Amino acid sequence: MIKKTEAYIEYDTEADVYKLRLRAPLSVCWQITTKCNLNCKYCLSSSGNDGIYGLDTDIAKKVINHLGELGINRLDFTGGEPLLRKDLGELIDCAKENNISTIVTTNTTLLNDQNINILRKADLIQISVDGPREMHNYQRQRDVYDLTINNIKKIKEAGCKVRLNSFIFNSNKQYVEELMNLSKELGVFSHLFIIFTPQGRGKDYPNEIIEQEEVEKIKTLIERKRNEENRNIRLYDYNEYLHSCVLLTPMCDVISQGFYEEDSVKVGNILETPLDEVFSNDVFDHPTHVFHYLQRRLKK
Ligand code: SF4
Repeated sequence: MIKKTEAYIEYDTEADVYKLRLRAPLSVCWQITTKCNLNCKYCLSSSGNDGIYGLDTDIAKKVINHLGELGINRLDFTGGEPLLRKDLGELIDCAKENNISTIVTTNTTLLNDQNINILRKADLIQISVDGPREMHNYQRQRDVYDLTINNIKKIKEAGCKVRLNSFIFNSNKQYVEELMNLSKELGVFSHLFIIFTPQGRGKDYPNEIIEQEEVEKIKTLIERKRNEENRNIRLYDYNEYLHSCVLLTPMCDVISQGFYEEDSVKVGNILETPLDEVFSNDVFDHPTHVFHYLQRRLKK
């Protein structure tokens, strides 16, 4: 299906400046819960056992209907662990009724015969693997590597499209090539490397911030592999996309993300103010938002 999003050019006559603006974001990332069965060392949302369950189903569906009315193309249900939401299937169905593509980001460790069918409803499943066994378990703070790899295979066998996510920080940056080989072996649809940003629990580990020079080396390595093997592998460097993505917290605060948590801005709350109005705030960098998603197409 082809969906169209309204974009327009704003001309400020006083300043003689043109601005590209979108009526609404192309994609929204929603931490539908910050409850999680794991307690990863660098978790960006500080999720864990004590997290917030999130909105009641009826209100969550109203939020999704609102996103649908605005023509949002894609909704990423993240967390926390989305499988802890009893209504995940209903929320995915609601997004589908609104013609919104869905992504579910899961650590997979709660996978069972029932909820695998819920995952099958989504358009893409994102799963993090942050290194070989020892490194993955170190970041997860639990011995879950084998379970995760087995569950990736099961999710794939169930017919889901899978993207591997790898969070890259100083202590695991030497495993980028190994991780690319793993995603090839697993035969997943795509692989996204995300450069560490000191947010959530990551705030306590500034020593894990990778120098820009090193980030460039990782970028080159990934590009080489992508071209050589004609694979869908990308790098997400927060520094390139500051204040361009739309993040919703469990209770629907709208966050424009900076590199450091202190630079992130709460721009509003969509239970109080429509998202198009919140997104029109100058804090959001609309051209970069467009570029972020167009780039995926340009680079495959
Ligand atoms: S990184 Fe993911 S799996 Fe780990 S605690 Fe955070 S939400 Fe849970």
